[in-house]
Amino acid sequence: MPFSQVKQKLGELLNAYGTPRSRQQPELPFWHLRSDGLWEIPGAEELDKGKGGRRPLVTEMERAATGGFRADIDALLRADPQLLRRIARMLLDEHFPTSYHEDLITAVGLDLDEPLPKHTARDPAFRQQVLNAYGYRCAVCGLDPLIDGMRAVLEASHLQWHSHGGPSTIENGICLCPLHHKGLDLGVIGISDDRRVLVSSRLHGGEAIEASFGRYHQQSLIGPFHGYPSVHLDFVKWHTQQVFRNPPRR
Ligand SMILES: [Zn+2]
Repeated sequence: MPFSQVKQKLGELLNAYGTPRSRQQPELPFWHLRSDGLWEIPGAEELDKGKGGRRPLVTEMERAATGGFRADIDALLRADPQLLRRIARMLLDEHFPTSYHEDLITAVGLDLDEPLPKHTARDPAFRQQVLNAYGYRCAVCGLDPLIDGMRAVLEASHLQWHSHGGPSTIENGICLCPLHHKGLDLGVIGISDDRRVLVSSRLHGGEAIEASFGRYHQQSLIGPFHGYPSVHLDFVKWHTQQVFRNPPRR
């Protein structure tokens, strides 16, 4: 793959799914992936690194850098489609919350034949504790559906992602409806130090967006019930720094 051909798409993926930054640098993963030994850029040493630079200039990479898997790795992946599936599964589990998985697979154009196994039941005790603490009510919008007496729909979200060392404890959990769970994981919803809902200024859309997100900006989180701990500020801080798409609306 010539860097010039993947640069834009890679930048878009980093914008959508990477740690929020003011400027994404797709040349970094393209270049540094080599350190795993699976990816190579033939002729990398000849590329112009400018004066004392440690990696080639971006313009030089656009001009002449072509990267790809090593021939033996490429052959392995082509010979064993299950290997690709397992690797994709592992990368998703280790680096992204489950709410990202389907979108990400679609975005990178992977065809995995069958749907990925869901790992939502990874920690049923965590889910139960969080839903109880919040009384089966979305902490953002208050949604609390009962279907023939059955409590349904609500989800327990990790504030600091489980894939990034976030513990499965009430202090790191919030009960949310699927829409606001996804909003939290995608960084369009955040939480302030005084535990109010923040909506990112980078979320745009029509009236339905105002009705579903905008109206909750600066509103206090709903719950948990008295006697249960609120979300811990350490995890709020992690989410603010790693996930939330700053700045919040004014
Ligand atoms: Zn909600």
